[in-house]
Amino acid sequence: QQPGLDAAVAALAERGVDVVRLGYPDLMGSERARDLVVSRFARTVGDGVAFCRTIYGTSPQGDVIALEHGGLADGLPDVVAFPDLATLVDLPWEPGVAHCIADVCDPDGAPAQESPRTVLRTVLGRFAELGMRPVVGPELEFYLLEPDAASPQGWRRYGEAPGNVYVAGRKGDPEGVLLRMLRSLAGLGVDAVAANHEFCSGQFEINLWHSEALDAADRAFRFKSAVKELARLEGKLATFMAKPFNDEGGSGFHLHFSTLDDEDRPLFDDPSGPGGLSKTALSAIAGILAHAPALSALANPTVNSAKRFGPDTLAPWLIDWGLDNRSAMVRIPPERGRAARLELRLGDATANPYLLIAGVLAAAYLGIRDGLTPPDPLEGYGYDASKAPMIPQDLPAALAAFEADTEFTALLGERFVAAFLAFKRDELGRFARWVTDWEFREYAYHL
Ligand code: GLU
Ligand code: MG
Ligand code: MG
Repeated sequence: QQPGLDAAVAALAERGVDVVRLGYPDLMGSERARDLVVSRFARTVGDGVAFCRTIYGTSPQGDVIALEHGGLADGLPDVVAFPDLATLVDLPWEPGVAHCIADVCDPDGAPAQESPRTVLRTVLGRFAELGMRPVVGPELEFYLLEPDAASPQGWRRYGEAPGNVYVAGRKGDPEGVLLRMLRSLAGLGVDAVAANHEFCSGQFEINLWHSEALDAADRAFRFKSAVKELARLEGKLATFMAKPFNDEGGSGFHLHFSTLDDEDRPLFDDPSGPGGLSKTALSAIAGILAHAPALSALANPTVNSAKRFGPDTLAPWLIDWGLDNRSAMVRIPPERGRAARLELRLGDATANPYLLIAGVLAAAYLGIRDGLTPPDPLEGYGYDASKAPMIPQDLPAALAAFEADTEFTALLGERFVAAFLAFKRDELGRFARWVTDWEFREYAYHL
């Protein structure tokens, strides 16, 4: 039995909670969950709750993908989910329901290596060896869509109108959906601190406050589930797709990152260093630049992802860094002192928060461990391809870079790496065989 279980169950009863939704991220970071009545939660949760291992080999379309370990060939064995009681929180929009994040284990009790939470814990172990505690602040962009029978996808952009960036109120949010979301999220404890209309029509951003990496990943994971759920309650669709429209920009998952030492002292600030940054910060940047092609597989994990990149998009295009420069892949925001940090702008909103954070930390770790030095920061325009190498321009290139960078993947766990590659290559295979609307438009009439 887990310590604290009795007290947690008693507290649930006191709050009138009768159902616990036990959830955890699959490989893509989507939530897989079961609703457990509280008596079942109390009775069995100490032994873990069994799920089918297909959660790590089921595509968003429901296809079961052949994984090397624990796939169909092995008879689809179980995994066991153990609730992390520290994550229990009530769902503000679903009275009587609490939400709890689980750690997924193999039936023998060892952490499942495919579990994104396990992967992040593994990388954090390396930072602990350095006496460092990474701090992370996630920013996620997404589009809100509403039903439209006349559009081919069945959706149009909510509140469609140009020029609404940083417009608050009903002009960009005609029905107050974003405002209600912000309030519901406040009750969920994900520390969502600000919401705004983004550059593109129907696109919004919500910022989460920073905290230690695992907590930040849990909050970002929970945030994405919540935003999708809250949009559905409003009859809308929230999409985190990287580049959902040809005529509007993509949605980023920017990540602010710094690290503390064991005594809570910030390690990225150094008033006498170049740009006011410490050697540790510079090495972290150098590690991220050096391993960016491999990292891109985790940060930009879909066939749609690289379509977000490009000159003049505010998404990055090149592997570079700059001081307060939004066209660079790594931006150093102007604050220093405890707030000295980097903002990685590479990730898109489809990235699994655990894997994006684990990947950024792994790359930074290698830079710090090896004392790497970054090239000079970018000055001015960040989309001049003669100045820096390009981010992988499609998913096959990103996966190839990921597979080749064994120094990087060694930090993530062998079984995870194999499962991730199998999963993504299955997706590429399915995509290659699918006839798209572009092909019809390009070839049907003229050839
Ligand atoms: N939408 C841009 C991206 O995909 C970022 C815009 C911004 O700077 O907020 O990264
Ligand atoms: Mg933004
Ligand atoms: Mg940002």
